[in-house]
Amino acid sequence: MSPAIIDSITKFSYVLAAALFIFSLRWLSRPQTARRGVLAGVVGMTAAIVGTLLHPEITTYLWIVVAAALGTAVGIPLSRVPLTAVPQRTALSHAFGGLAAGLVGTAKYSLWLEQDLLTPFKTSAIVIEVLLGYLTFTGSLMAAGKLQEVIPTRPITFRGQNYVNFAMLGIAALSGVALAINPSLWPLFGVVIVLSLLFGVMLILPIGGADMPTVISILNSYAGLSAVAMGFVLDNMLLVTAGALDGSSGFILSLIMCRAMNRSFTNVLFGAFGQVAAATGPVVQKTAKTATPQDVCDMLENAARVVVVPGYGMAVAQAQHRVREVYDQLTKRGIDVKFAIHPVAGRMPGHMNVLLAEADIPYEALVEMDDINRDLPQTDVVLVVGANDVVNPAARHDKSSPIYGMPIIDADKAKLCVAIKRSMNPGFAGIENELYFADNTLMLFGDAKAMLGEIAKALTGGGSGGH
Ligand code: NAP
Repeated sequence: MSPAIIDSITKFSYVLAAALFIFSLRWLSRPQTARRGVLAGVVGMTAAIVGTLLHPEITTYLWIVVAAALGTAVGIPLSRVPLTAVPQRTALSHAFGGLAAGLVGTAKYSLWLEQDLLTPFKTSAIVIEVLLGYLTFTGSLMAAGKLQEVIPTRPITFRGQNYVNFAMLGIAALSGVALAINPSLWPLFGVVIVLSLLFGVMLILPIGGADMPTVISILNSYAGLSAVAMGFVLDNMLLVTAGALDGSSGFILSLIMCRAMNRSFTNVLFGAFGQVAAATGPVVQKTAKTATPQDVCDMLENAARVVVVPGYGMAVAQAQHRVREVYDQLTKRGIDVKFAIHPVAGRMPGHMNVLLAEADIPYEALVEMDDINRDLPQTDVVLVVGANDVVNPAARHDKSSPIYGMPIIDADKAKLCVAIKRSMNPGFAGIENELYFADNTLMLFGDAKAMLGEIAKALTGGGSGGH
């Protein structure tokens, strides 16, 4: 094939890949089209790889084959982790992405230094790539470690921590500027690498394990920005496009998560949230009313409209299939059953959607928070399955609450609310939930899977053993 034809094929494959990446993101945003989105992403990436492999600069394929074999050997077992381990698996993928960007930048710097090809622009792009790449690498490894609980999940803080971190970042940035002015100052390149690696670790240390999903999506955007810089270094527009898509989607996702939790970016990154909140005010003895599975079965059978609010407890108990059984029993009786989806219910974006989809709950039954809140005053029974913070009315009126201002699902506005959980223990935010003490709320204490199993049994006429 003539070089002109090869060049055209490469260009075409890059345009195709960029278009498919954009469609992929679009399709991934809706459950109905998500599978198509994944496929578009895979086809796009294949087109990008084929286009790159045709590049005339490649003189031997040996190392590419070795790297591909190694990547496949690590990637296949990583793809088989259970759903609950997806956040840490994603963090590991970002770590590898960051490491790849850092290594490419390091290789290009040493090569061009030898060939005397470093310009201020090229060096600046390399420094940005290396800085973001290596900090994403160690930061993501730390995030994965916290989520897997191989390192302490509690925030590790010390006095002056933020000053130390900013000083490290500042020295790395100044070294980068000096390098851009005089690219031959190679010891400074070493300083940038070491400080970036250290900064990644120090950035994650003060953040609690429960905030890791938000941190991972922030790291995702750093990895994307690093790829943009790599695209400029390698003069590859597809990398610039894909990196920009990756970086902006990660950033938007972090913003959505922060807004849904009513937290600012700085609060997530520097707030050391997730520590047990100190009790405020005098302790008032309050009692919650309880119910048995048979009581709940009777209430549900007499309802015309039921809304299920799933939360982190449903994920812990793996109760989604029992939820499906109850859903089947109720819809068979002509009862209208909907699922209220809070954007940050559970511990990762889309956590509830994925679990409910696994149990084959129809997509149409899943309703977003704002839409379901309109219907809740006309709802007969709200069944809260292991959700806590996302239904805490304190978010609406208690200015001293750490979740004040967070939009919630108005479960308290329904005629009757039943909350299934094991105890009165708080959820992620570490605070009491006044919903559980409301006049129209009944508590069903126990593991969500076991309790829903009892309710389903009672609904099928098998009795629950609750009486
Ligand atoms: P939550 O406030 O963390 O509460 C979960 C509740 O589930 C707990 O109170 C717990 O009570 C109960 N539970 C645990 N295991 C259970 C079991 N086996 N059976 C029954 N209940 C069980 O959960 P949420 O309402 O879903 O709220 C999510 C929180 O995570 C929010 O504060 C959000 O800001 C935060 N967050 C979310 C994301 C995200 O992307 N989704 C990311 C970071 C942070 P018991 O121990 O008494 O059973």
